[in-house]
Amino acid sequence: MNHQPFEEWLLNDKHLNPTEKRELDAHLRDCKYCTALTETGFALRSARVVAPAPGFAMRFQERLAAQKIADRRRRLWGLLVLILTGIGLAVWLTAPYISAIAASPVEWLTTVAAYILFLFMSLQAFGEALSVLARIVPGFIPPYVWMVIISAMAGLGLLWAISIWRFVRAPRGVSV
Ligand SMILES: [Zn+2]
Repeated sequence: MNHQPFEEWLLNDKHLNPTEKRELDAHLRDCKYCTALTETGFALRSARVVAPAPGFAMRFQERLAAQKIADRRRRLWGLLVLILTGIGLAVWLTAPYISAIAASPVEWLTTVAAYILFLFMSLQAFGEALSVLARIVPGFIPPYVWMVIISAMAGLGLLWAISIWRFVRAPRGVSV
């Protein structure tokens, strides 16, 4: 059975003139498919969109705002705990030094200044030695070996700086 143009009319909810209406009625009398289509159309048109309960939007917004505030508060508390923990840890770690500084500030300043001066001078000497090496050696050392040497020297330098720090600090421990 040919359902056109009736199927299209029904699907598009076309406004029909009297002639078209008569033709459609005649078709619907024998066509179960188009009858079903008509009923579906009626059902869809008669279905009401369920309106939300009054004040829904307002309650939703209020809940959203409350949640945002709670979120912010939780984040703030987290930050506070983090900061307090950090401060506590810093105090715990630096307390011995701080008490030492408080006990003899001048001695500490001298120690630190001596350390910095010594470190600076040593670094200068180290740099000079390195520059001399850099002038002499590159000709017959491949770049990757050069890189290994430099990183090894840097590591040793760091270790050495730390060991000096221990060494410089030692007399203070003895005197106390
Ligand atoms: Zn039909």
